[in-house]
Amino acid sequence: MTVPVTAAPIIALEGIDGSGKGTQAQLLRDALIAQGSKATLISFPRYTDTFFGARIGEFLNGKFGALEDLDPFLISLLYAGDRLESRDTLLNAAAESDIVILDRYVASNVAHQSAKRTGNERRQLQEWIEHIEFEIHGLPRPTLTLLLDLPVDISQELIQQKSQRAYTDRKTDLQEADVSYMQSVREAYLDLAERSSGWQTISVLDGTNLRSRDDIASEIAAHVATSGRGMERAQ
Ligand code: ADP
Repeated sequence: MTVPVTAAPIIALEGIDGSGKGTQAQLLRDALIAQGSKATLISFPRYTDTFFGARIGEFLNGKFGALEDLDPFLISLLYAGDRLESRDTLLNAAAESDIVILDRYVASNVAHQSAKRTGNERRQLQEWIEHIEFEIHGLPRPTLTLLLDLPVDISQELIQQKSQRAYTDRKTDLQEADVSYMQSVREAYLDLAERSSGWQTISVLDGTNLRSRDDIASEIAAHVATSGRGMERAQ
């Protein structure tokens, strides 16, 4: 399938659960709209909007079994299916907006599933997932990926503050509750950020202190402005 060249830049926010992606995605959208840009925000997984999104909700509630019993490659197909079902929504948003902000994208699938394997197996999963989503499913590559990075123990505290999610009655879902798994996801993200182009890592901590939402938002806005194209179209 040909990979579409989208009109608007696509900014993907990534990071482990509780790193502030949802918070920052909304702040960025609001700031861009206040500047006169047409900014569209899409959050993945789309639990209530797609068939596969609903199955992901069930997976995270434990319906298909324990995390360690499930093959990460097969699980990655649920997340890829959710985005394939959302492809038109995403391409339409890119055609009609000045900038598209994604709260999680393909890299979430890559980091979360490859974190369940090590060495060559991890690398192969990363390659397969990117191949499926970008080449076979023809999703657009993001213009810029911003990784919100913080230690897992702090993210666990932030997850406890989150309001109830649509897909689960639990305070933490299957994956969020597993601290060592979340540590591997953080490492997989940092590895991806280091060897991929178009990534910036943003530390959620200043030393040992949590940075304010607005402070992080300013750094994100600066990266988006430097990446250029979103702002140019808003002039
Ligand atoms: P994610 O989407 O990455 O899971 P959220 O944006 O939902 O993370 O943030 C997790 C929780 O932490 C939310 O309750 C949110 O209000 C809070 N939060 C996010 N950023 C900060 C911050 N910089 N300081 C304090 N609390 C924050």
